[in-house]
Amino acid sequence: MDILVIGSGGREHAIIWALAKSPNAHRIYCAPGNAGIGQIAECVPIAVNEFEKLADFAAERQVGLVMVGPDDPLAEGIVDVFEARQIPVYGPRQNAAIIEGSKTFMKDLLHKYNIPTAAYAKFDMYEAALAYLQQQPIPVVIKADGLAAGKGVTVARSMDEAIDALQAIMQDKVFGEAGSRVIIEEFMEGQEMSILAFVDGETVRAMPAAQDHKPVYDNDEGPNTGGMGTYSPLPHIDEAIIDEALETIVIPTAKAMVAEGRPFRGVLFAGLMITPDGKPKTVEFNARFGDPETQVVLPRLKTDLLDIFLASVNGTLAELEIEWSDEAAVCVILASGGYPASYPKGLPIHGLDAVDSSKALVFHAGTGTSATGELVTNGGRVLGVVGLGADIASARVAAYEQAEKITFEGKHQRSDIAAKALVSQ
Ligand code: ATP
Repeated sequence: MDILVIGSGGREHAIIWALAKSPNAHRIYCAPGNAGIGQIAECVPIAVNEFEKLADFAAERQVGLVMVGPDDPLAEGIVDVFEARQIPVYGPRQNAAIIEGSKTFMKDLLHKYNIPTAAYAKFDMYEAALAYLQQQPIPVVIKADGLAAGKGVTVARSMDEAIDALQAIMQDKVFGEAGSRVIIEEFMEGQEMSILAFVDGETVRAMPAAQDHKPVYDNDEGPNTGGMGTYSPLPHIDEAIIDEALETIVIPTAKAMVAEGRPFRGVLFAGLMITPDGKPKTVEFNARFGDPETQVVLPRLKTDLLDIFLASVNGTLAELEIEWSDEAAVCVILASGGYPASYPKGLPIHGLDAVDSSKALVFHAGTGTSATGELVTNGGRVLGVVGLGADIASARVAAYEQAEKITFEGKHQRSDIAAKALVSQ
């Protein structure tokens, strides 16, 4: 079967890498893709928000399955467009993708169904929000309602910072419409983890847990990024806590979406905080694979990913057994100097040929090809190097050893990815 994957990041590279292993995957297209994806799939120059063009392409080529990677097209209803044209598509409809697209929807849903999350209040008027905020203890969390590319959240460590964030969202409208509503949320102490699950209505098939590193510098310093590295499994976190998160958060949320007439089909991504009493609470839900969580989770998948997607599209996910390997994976992101603020593009990348593919996978994110055919940087997060090993320690060594071989001007990586997990090994 021919497949069309929509997106252009490391996540989509990892998804296509996994799909390409399926004996039933024939030709794989990616719109718009990147230089690395172009080595294993055919890149098609259509942007992720050109729904009709994408649907025309899928119909023309008679693709058997479309898979949507990023959040924006999902929130804008790309799946509904494909379904209306009877093109098989994997991902949540717009009325379910709202669990990521609107934080007020998500918080109200969790509140209604008693699913653990931080206490909150929502506002669409600045004065009322300010009056409430001034009564809150510090730290406090301020969130724009809509999608803001991961930048709409401020964990404020002072009241001044909190008020600045509120003003920026509601008065200066720095996130546009995404900030017409705001959530003021209780600060949760603890350690974060992510659980991704293949979900089809009430059927939930969890993937192994992963942990991200959002801030740009070591020791979680500096501004937040899309993610500087991940690892899976999480040896320092008790299995019982992961099970509890599934039982008290992920499964009840899937059921709640069904009860609301918004059955979720696709990858449901729960961002969780393990609070000091050991109880997991919800930070956020995403309606798609995480980036760079996907890069450490899919290499551990033993089941055919195409079979999983097709089972969901056909409503038979409940009958499918999904198997995972015990192997560990650590992803180190190589970013452009300056990221997440401004950074140069078009810088030559060297050393990829020297990477030992038996030790690490390299997934491309912001890469492109220069006019002379050279591999160059083309984004903030450039490459993800995923080390594999019997445990986190060896996977981590593999990731850093292989990452060392890749060079480009200004290359920045964190040196402490997965360090937390080593303490208990
Ligand atoms: P992204 O999609 O990039 O992960 P987002 O914009 O959807 O981010 P959230 O995930 O809700 O935003 O929040 C971003 C980060 O802010 C979280 O990963 C977490 O570190 C922190 N955060 C959010 N809410 C809270 C909270 N209530 N208490 C403590 N930290 C929080």
